Amino acid sequence: MKFNKKLENIKIYEAGKPIELVVREFGIEPKDIVKLASNENPYGCAPKVKEAVTKIVSNMALYPDDSMRKLKNGLTSRFEIKEENLIIGSGSDQVIEFIMHAKANANSKILINSVTFAMYEIYAKHIGAKIVRTASQEHNLNEFYELYKSEKPDVIFLCTPNNPTGDAIDALDMMNFIAKIDENTLVVVDGAYMEYAAFKDKKKAISPKELIKKFSNVIYLGTFSKAYGLGGMRVGYGISSPEIIKELHKLRPPFNITTLSLEAASVAVEEQAFVNNCISLCFSEMKHYEEFATKQKIDIIESYTNFVTLCLNKDNNSTQIADALLRQGIIVRDLSGYGMNAIRVTVGTPEQNSRFFELTAELL
Ligand SMILES: *Cc1c(COP(=O)(O)O)cnc(C)c1O
Repeated sequence: MKFNKKLENIKIYEAGKPIELVVREFGIEPKDIVKLASNENPYGCAPKVKEAVTKIVSNMALYPDDSMRKLKNGLTSRFEIKEENLIIGSGSDQVIEFIMHAKANANSKILINSVTFAMYEIYAKHIGAKIVRTASQEHNLNEFYELYKSEKPDVIFLCTPNNPTGDAIDALDMMNFIAKIDENTLVVVDGAYMEYAAFKDKKKAISPKELIKKFSNVIYLGTFSKAYGLGGMRVGYGISSPEIIKELHKLRPPFNITTLSLEAASVAVEEQAFVNNCISLCFSEMKHYEEFATKQKIDIIESYTNFVTLCLNKDNNSTQIADALLRQGIIVRDLSGYGMNAIRVTVGTPEQNSRFFELTAELL
């Protein structure tokens, strides 16, 4: 059968391996598996979220409230924005997909960081748009600006903090950069891990309200999958000017968020104390990763997220290390696909982290 030609150069996205796969392939008991591959919150979601979802399970026969009233109210008051500034997606992934369809075509260029979230490229390829990358591993806004001038992209993605490296852009530098971009070029600020960066360093904190007050050509993306502990519920959002939000809504399928997911996210957004506590635990555990790296004489990139990137030495191969860990029930992310001899490890609970240190020390 013949398919759309655009599909020929799309590689299927390799998601973080699920626990079920490790159970099946290596016969390890689920309780012995440590999943540190997808940057989920190891403490899960707030107890009130679970209670609320349990209470409404019997509503599953009915279609969801497509106005998403409760969740929209929660997000508009959290971010001090209006409903016309907000779109909800099935994960912020889906908002990225809407953005690509709204702004790009087969002649478009999409400017992204050299190493960054893989979905930008995948959605660009759906459209047939061309990806342009900077050279540096960390976001270098001078390089972004030079490429903006020479390549004239339709969309620029800034991922801060960045996945899979964990570094973050200073808010002031970002504001100065966006001020130089013409208003027909859309700048996407992906803040999937912004809760962590804002907690660690105020200079890295980007306020979506400020962004959209200053600029009409910017969209900020957030998600419930990471700090809020709702990766399995698939809820994300975009915050932007009413003009942009209106166009994105034309692309949104009806009922794109399930009833249970809407309820979970609406309650989660009220549980900031729980989230802050998890973030605080994350950064105190991260210290042990820094100590581990020093002891093992490997480089660690300073992280503003809930994961660390360990850059291995020449005598260790990241694919082999990730594979050996997997066989023992520890799932981490091999970054060889990003051209790095590195592994990305989500900061887990103290017990999970200790197991990682023990086994990895033996392997290195
Ligand atoms: C996890 C992640 C997302 C989106 O995740 P969803 O689960 O689709 O909301 C977006 N951007 C980055 C950089 C991420 O790491």
